[in-house]
Amino acid sequence: MGATMSDNWIKLVPVDARYIPDRARQVRAMIRFAEIAPNAEIDAGHCETVKFFDCGANFKLVRCPACGEQVAVEWWQDRMDKDSGEGFQLVAYELPCCKTKCTLNDLVYDWPQASGKFVLGAINSNIKTLKDEHKSELEDILATKLRVVYQHLSSAAGQSVADDRAGMTVFRATTFLAAGPASERRCSVTKRDN
Ligand SMILES: [Zn+2]
Repeated sequence: MGATMSDNWIKLVPVDARYIPDRARQVRAMIRFAEIAPNAEIDAGHCETVKFFDCGANFKLVRCPACGEQVAVEWWQDRMDKDSGEGFQLVAYELPCCKTKCTLNDLVYDWPQASGKFVLGAINSNIKTLKDEHKSELEDILATKLRVVYQHLSSAAGQSVADDRAGMTVFRATTFLAAGPASERRCSVTKRDN
């Protein structure tokens, strides 16, 4: 049986692309996310520049947030190239459909994608989707509204795990004691090499 290897990330990105939660909030969110998404590898990354977190093979189309018209993928890719330098600048561009001005982070992506300086991620968890109540909990912990990006990476397409992490400081929750009340669990956080 030639099982196809693939990876699925659930990535949570602040709606305000430039917001980075403080360290204590990041750690609390990692601990809670590990409870919500069992057996997943959880990490949190931040960066001084704005990154783009795509949905991988789940990507279907882009729409205008004002009129709902589909945006040509070529137009979008061209603006993605133009907008990125030292991270994404998130300049407001005039859309071809109805002349609405918006940034790449304001566009409606199917499936959702997000720009940001901070990401909380879980890879290959036992949950397919994040419940609204759990999303709200993590929003409270991180003190921000969040966008949820479901990123599907298939090794067949030669996509590597976490290639959007380049240049990010990534912290990984490596030790959770499963027993005992949450207040007594310990989380050891190590810094990754990348
Ligand atoms: Zn429009």
